[in-house]
Amino acid sequence: MRLNVSLQLKVPGNVGHSTISQKLPDFEYGGRIIRFASPSLVDVSYVYDGNLLSVHGKFAAELISECARCSETFNEPLSFEFHEQFKREVSEDELGELYPYSGDTIDIDAMLHDNILLNLPISSICQENCLGKCPQCGCNLNNTQCSCAPQEEAPKTDGDTYYPFAGLMDLLTDNEEEV
Ligand SMILES: [Zn+2]
Ligand SMILES: [Zn+2]
Repeated sequence: MRLNVSLQLKVPGNVGHSTISQKLPDFEYGGRIIRFASPSLVDVSYVYDGNLLSVHGKFAAELISECARCSETFNEPLSFEFHEQFKREVSEDELGELYPYSGDTIDIDAMLHDNILLNLPISSICQENCLGKCPQCGCNLNNTQCSCAPQEEAPKTDGDTYYPFAGLMDLLTDNEEEV
């Protein structure tokens, strides 16, 4: 995404405004691929103070995320506000804080990428009550009901004989004791 800032550079204090809807290309960061399910909506204002070009606005898009519990992919909304500054000549010390530009346009992709990464959820869950995967057979418990026994209650065995209701019997015994 590029913004034409020629007017702002000529007239410091003049506030430019653009609304851009564009699908950003997927990008990779630290082994994770950020994939977009929808066009990104960027509502951005920019003003020049004679030295720095301040750029701020709102970003909204849907990402294709993988659920941390069930591993299914789903569309995850992501939105945030950004406030950044661009400078024509950026020294090495300033690179962490300022974005360089040249000519009469600024390319905001790198700035958006940085802000997307800053605003990514720590862990993505497809739905609040996602049941995740069965730890034994690996099926998705949201749409399959497998017959694996819950892991925290290991089947009670007596030699080779398996009593499927052993847990229930314990429960009944406990209740009787309480009476
Ligand atoms: Zn899930
Ligand atoms: Zn299972």
